Amino acid sequence: MMDYQLLADLLFPQITKTPADIEAAYPARQLPEGAKVTRFAPSPTGFVHFGGLFPSTVGERLAHQSGGVFYLRIEDTDAKREVPGAAEGLIKTLAHYGIHFDEGAILDETGKVSDQGAYGPYKQSARAEIYQTYAKDLVSKGLAYPCFTTEEELEALQAVNKKEEIKNTDWQAQAEQRREQTLKMRAITMDEVKENLAAGNPFVLRILADGDPTKKTPFTDLVRGKLDVPENDEDFVLLKSDGIPTYHFAHAVDDHLMGTTHVIRGEEWLPSLAKHIQLFRYLGFRLPKYMHISQIMRLDENGNKKKLSKRDMGANMDDYAAMGYAPECVCEYVMTLLNSNYEEWHAQNPEKPYTEFPFNIKKMSASGCLFDFGKLNDVSKNVISRMSAQKVTLAVTEWAQTYDPEFGALLARDPAYAANIFAIGRGGKKPRKDLAVWKDARPYMGFFYDELFTLTEQYPEQFDKADIKATLQGFIKTFDISDDMNTWFEKIKEIGAGLGYTADMKAYKADPTAFKGSVADISMFLRLAVTGKTNAPDLWTVMQILGYDRTVARLESMLETL
Ligand code: GLU
Repeated sequence: MMDYQLLADLLFPQITKTPADIEAAYPARQLPEGAKVTRFAPSPTGFVHFGGLFPSTVGERLAHQSGGVFYLRIEDTDAKREVPGAAEGLIKTLAHYGIHFDEGAILDETGKVSDQGAYGPYKQSARAEIYQTYAKDLVSKGLAYPCFTTEEELEALQAVNKKEEIKNTDWQAQAEQRREQTLKMRAITMDEVKENLAAGNPFVLRILADGDPTKKTPFTDLVRGKLDVPENDEDFVLLKSDGIPTYHFAHAVDDHLMGTTHVIRGEEWLPSLAKHIQLFRYLGFRLPKYMHISQIMRLDENGNKKKLSKRDMGANMDDYAAMGYAPECVCEYVMTLLNSNYEEWHAQNPEKPYTEFPFNIKKMSASGCLFDFGKLNDVSKNVISRMSAQKVTLAVTEWAQTYDPEFGALLARDPAYAANIFAIGRGGKKPRKDLAVWKDARPYMGFFYDELFTLTEQYPEQFDKADIKATLQGFIKTFDISDDMNTWFEKIKEIGAGLGYTADMKAYKADPTAFKGSVADISMFLRLAVTGKTNAPDLWTVMQILGYDRTVARLESMLETL
């Protein structure tokens, strides 16, 4: 019989603490009944993926809706995959999308990642001693053992196995082979351990799995419902040869110590659940509740559903700023994807921010959500249509100053003028919905700036040039900037009537051949001259904003071309 305590001391001579010592530094959180403690736990391997906004939004909502705590943990146990600056980038991007953490890794004044809160360190690379303390304890209880096969050897072995697995469909034989390998690894003697340690050979620490995969443990995932999870019989790695834990081990120790009540993570972790259930049991920890969030899908060119991969358009959350999406629009879109009843609630509560929506785990879909720019744009247009003109002016100006400096400078030159433009059609029951992204602003309202004004359309061929000329000339003759909308329109109708363009829309619809056209055509003659296009906001208001001189100047310069 192996002396497990001796083995533990041999493997971890530097560890003098016990789990009880560590636990003393992590007292239970004092929170109201039902408060949820959630975390976002990204690996700093790159940008925030659209799919990462899901678990972080869910975590943030569940914690803050229940009076709990939401924290950020940086899972940097894989130094090889770490991208310098990624952790800083993640924190900034998440903050941009309104994902605020109560504690965890934050940026300090110098822009470096540092800790805030009593349950840290929140960067896994700073927690090696903590993991090793629990690892040593598991060894001393005979629940984990060292394996001196080097990582390279192991990788080579796994590569061979993979190839063989593909060829070999005799699963039973494969399972037996694995079993045999495991038994061999487990059979290591104290003398072998001592010899290897003396030779300075590295080891990985493996769990001694006690599961029988033919037996199933009932388990309830809060998104997926009831599952039958087969027991784990794989002696998976807890600590790698550099003493750094695998995700499995690190998350178990951290979520326990940091008091996580709900683990919200991607569904790619579902197959590891059996390992985690076993690990929490071995460690004597209470299993948190789990929510496995489905992957985000997209439609490919052939209309087939595909995973939204890192390289797909829309995956990188940092791209949205350049595309000109307001963060609140993206958040709102995420809510519509996350909770099936969000849109209904929103229709009933159009003025309320999404943070007031009672987020409900039960309304989350277990199948993959479909990412779609069309839907995002619809949501975005709605959100922007309810913003104040001031807010839109500020946001567009700020965006343009970075991404379209020429336009940005024009907007910044006279913010009140810009705000008047953005105020057109805002407020009321049916606000205009022209902007999905800030980039849409320039084509929508650039014509208000003489520097950007161009004719983007031509008069349709069917109209008599003489009529267009007569309309513009007639309008200039009687144009008074102080006319109210009615008086202004009466004058336009009169010009039309004189040219055979009726203002009686009913009569016109009944028999269009009886007239040259309608007053709508007359308005269009004016609109194209003044705005450069046939589709523009309310023309009376446009003229009010442009003022008398610029309106007339545009009409006159159009006349010169006719
Ligand atoms: N670091 C893991 C990942 O990025 C976290 C999973 C979890 O939230 O537990 O997938």
